[in-house]
Amino acid sequence: MSYNFYVVATPIGNLSDISMRAVEVLKSVDYIACEDTRVTRILADKYSIKAKLFDCHKFNEKEKSCQILDLLKDDKKVALVSDAGTPCISDPGSTLIKTLYENGVKITSVPGACAVTTFLSLVPRDSEEYAFIGFIPRVKKQQYDILDKYRYTNCVFYESPNRLMDTLLNIQEFFGEDKKIAVARELTKVFEEVKIDEVKNIIKYYRENTLKGEIVALVFAQDKKEDSNEFIMEKINILKEEGYSPKDISKIISKLYNINKNKVYKMVIG
Ligand code: SAM
Repeated sequence: MSYNFYVVATPIGNLSDISMRAVEVLKSVDYIACEDTRVTRILADKYSIKAKLFDCHKFNEKEKSCQILDLLKDDKKVALVSDAGTPCISDPGSTLIKTLYENGVKITSVPGACAVTTFLSLVPRDSEEYAFIGFIPRVKKQQYDILDKYRYTNCVFYESPNRLMDTLLNIQEFFGEDKKIAVARELTKVFEEVKIDEVKNIIKYYRENTLKGEIVALVFAQDKKEDSNEFIMEKINILKEEGYSPKDISKIISKLYNINKNKVYKMVIG
């Protein structure tokens, strides 16, 4: 089956991480819509890709969608790429794809590198389930909302190196210093690094070491068991036997398991 429009994944660091089909397709098309033509030019030169490059980024995507439609109506072949990885994954492209679907264009994807899937393939997990939220919001309250919403799911996000420390401190404040997380930096590149540890140790590590480059991170899912009433009651009884006061028990349990203090207090006295 032949298509006229292709969504093509490109490398996320190592320029060799591109499929043979992706190179064939990029060589076969007339035009490549790029997030930044200077970035794609490097890839095009490496693989002797001669297609015409033009920019299509978040600030001009709407108007470029119309131009791309015209090219396709003119029987030209067009591919969409982003600076790195898979277009439309925390990258521009969705507006264009929507316009093309609405106009009945046959679209196919040429899959390849993506920072989320590359990262997940390196992180040992107990469950297949995960939530990918793209770039985590900057505002602490919004981060808390996300951490709360996905507390029982492995939660993956992109973050910039400048903001990672604040985000780690917020995770520590929200879940406690023992919360297990994973952080990867510069995947597929020379200084690739993956750290899987308690948040306090990762904070310590990045206070002592370089925090530069591209980052993807995961907050491991909280075990549902830890929140169940039976589990909490079990812990309350242990502390009661040790002679702790109801006030101290609610303080300790709410801090350890991030549960509302009044809720714990009611369980202690109830
Ligand atoms: N479309 C891309 C993909 O498929 O992964 C993501 C584009 S998004 C604008 C760029 C963000 O992805 C970076 O800021 C970083 O959080 C993450 N990222 C991209 N390349 C990465 C790499 N080599 N190592 C770690 N994270 C990476």
